[in-house]
Amino acid sequence: MPGFWAILLLYSKEMSAHVLVLNRNLYAVQVATWERALTLLYLGRAGVVDEEYQVHDFHDWVELSKTIARNPAGFIHTPNFKVAIPDVIALRFFDKVLKHEIPFTRRNIYRHYGNRCCYCGKRFLSSELNLEHVVPRSRGGTTDWKNIVTACIPCNLRKGDRLPKEAGMRLMVPISRPKLSHGIILQARLPIRMRRCWQRFVDNVYWDSCIEE
Ligand SMILES: [Zn+2]
Repeated sequence: MPGFWAILLLYSKEMSAHVLVLNRNLYAVQVATWERALTLLYLGRAGVVDEEYQVHDFHDWVELSKTIARNPAGFIHTPNFKVAIPDVIALRFFDKVLKHEIPFTRRNIYRHYGNRCCYCGKRFLSSELNLEHVVPRSRGGTTDWKNIVTACIPCNLRKGDRLPKEAGMRLMVPISRPKLSHGIILQARLPIRMRRCWQRFVDNVYWDSCIEE
């Protein structure tokens, strides 16, 4: 299959176009090169999504391409037909979504709490903060977003191996887990800048709950 497009590539005006890839339910999941996108389309594993959210298979799209005079992403020309490089395609058999979880890493935890100590509320350098189990590990406290906060070293030492209440302390910054919109996650993962024509497929999606892959 790659050979097929390698030949067509000779006829391509636009060599660097990227295509937004949606899953079967039209949720944005990734970005593909135009070669990959057209290969998926040709193999029947994806359809082109138009502005009315209609999905077209390869043959439809070749027909429609005849009626498109100008296409920002360009056309692939073959001896027999031309095909417009689509802006957006949807996978036909894939209905997973992007993971909605922010990885539980030291860096992400610091960033989530804005480098603040959750007990005294002041900001610190990363080197002056510790990760703190609100419910101590010795009491069965877990090491995850539900139980870990950032704390400055004095607050961390003061609290020690106790519950906040036992130490006469309370969280100035409530414990929370990060929530990001689908669009932000997708943008963070995009290898390239968001194209304008993709925006509406990305903006209107927000998940409140975590959806596992
Ligand atoms: Zn503190």
